[in-house]
Amino acid sequence: MTTATDKNQQLFERALKVIPGGVNSPVRAFKAVGGTPRFVQRAQGAYFWDANGQRYTDYIGSWGPMILGHGHPAVVDAVQKALLEGFSFGAPTEREVELAEEILSLVPSMEMLRLVSSGTEAAMSTIRLARGATGRNKIIKFEGCYHGHADALLVKAGSGLATFGSATSAGVPPEVVQHTLVLEYNHIAQLEEAFALHGKDIACLMIEPIAGNMNFVRASVPFMQRCRELCTQYGALLVLDEVMTGFRVALGSAQSVYAKAIPGFAPDMTVLGKVIGGGMPLAAFGGSRAVMEHLAPMGAVYQAGTLSGNPVATACGLATLREIRKPGFYEALAQSTQSLVSGLQAAADAEGVAFCSDSEGGMFGFFLLDQLPQNYPQVMKTSSPRFNQLFHGLLDRGVYIAPALYEAGFVSSAHTAEDIAATIEAARAVFKELSK
Ligand code: PLP
Repeated sequence: MTTATDKNQQLFERALKVIPGGVNSPVRAFKAVGGTPRFVQRAQGAYFWDANGQRYTDYIGSWGPMILGHGHPAVVDAVQKALLEGFSFGAPTEREVELAEEILSLVPSMEMLRLVSSGTEAAMSTIRLARGATGRNKIIKFEGCYHGHADALLVKAGSGLATFGSATSAGVPPEVVQHTLVLEYNHIAQLEEAFALHGKDIACLMIEPIAGNMNFVRASVPFMQRCRELCTQYGALLVLDEVMTGFRVALGSAQSVYAKAIPGFAPDMTVLGKVIGGGMPLAAFGGSRAVMEHLAPMGAVYQAGTLSGNPVATACGLATLREIRKPGFYEALAQSTQSLVSGLQAAADAEGVAFCSDSEGGMFGFFLLDQLPQNYPQVMKTSSPRFNQLFHGLLDRGVYIAPALYEAGFVSSAHTAEDIAATIEAARAVFKELSK
């Protein structure tokens, strides 16, 4: 609700004068759902407080990184110590080596990695490396998967399979996306046709294994298996974009979940971000030694960054990884997340509201639909006005979920059973309104 004394509204009006749309990343503007974005004053554990001092239970967690909740004491301690040692050196540090070793020990498909500052940078650098290592230009991505805002990845499907995509953003020349083929998620026949037509020219196939940028849609096991087989058959690199799922759905990331269903499954390259920085600007990409050694200064593929491997960000990431690798962490996290989605499901069912949900580890999604969607067009069948009513109903009751129906949600280890029960009760009241 907006009033003359609403500090969120006052800040938004100030922000609109100096920052395009008043925000530094579009979805924060509440454009899809309407209303005033909440300006965060501070956060602790499972909560944040807005500019009016109103508390919210946070199911976004900075869009995924805050797996321990906000202000975890071990992480705060590590960051404070690192700050006193210096903010940035532009020279190597032991902590970068430690973080690389830690990540590689948990994700065995990677033999080497490079640290960067954002998921966008990591995905963009991966594409360049895949092209450089294979000597091929074409890449495959899937409709509804987001890999950051590099030019070649801001593409939607063309009019037919044999045609390449068109840019989804102004400012991206058609020549830049002419090598990007956009396919439907979970569509095996289309994937096979694409490889039959273009296989020997494809440098890499990039996929979100559980797509969190179309809410929560899993790649089916047969689909993922076919991605692996076709990449191997045609000499293309299979790249899992685990910026969101990495260390969020399991300690071994989503690839470990698929490896349970597909014996020997492993990607050629992995893109990581979010959790590995614990809320600081940090991301990574990695793969086999043979591929990674194509990177400068060893190889001919150029990639660099003034703030890459930043000492404060690496301290934050390391402290986070050390907490989440403690025994029982993921079991407890998955249980909290499951109790949230099953409680929401029961409340929706009781009120006769069409609803379905899914979760893995600390990541979840729900849809105001009868059946879980398998691809982007199915996700977009959700009624926006109904989702918006749900979003604002929850927000008014102090529950903060993503302000768009195509975004996943996140539970942290700081969310208690009481927090989750209160969220389910808030949702029950909103479902009642939706059922009228
Ligand atoms: N890849 C995936 C799967 C993502 O979810 C995101 C961001 O949400 C990115 C890449 C881009 O990461 P960043 O926002 O850090 O640039």
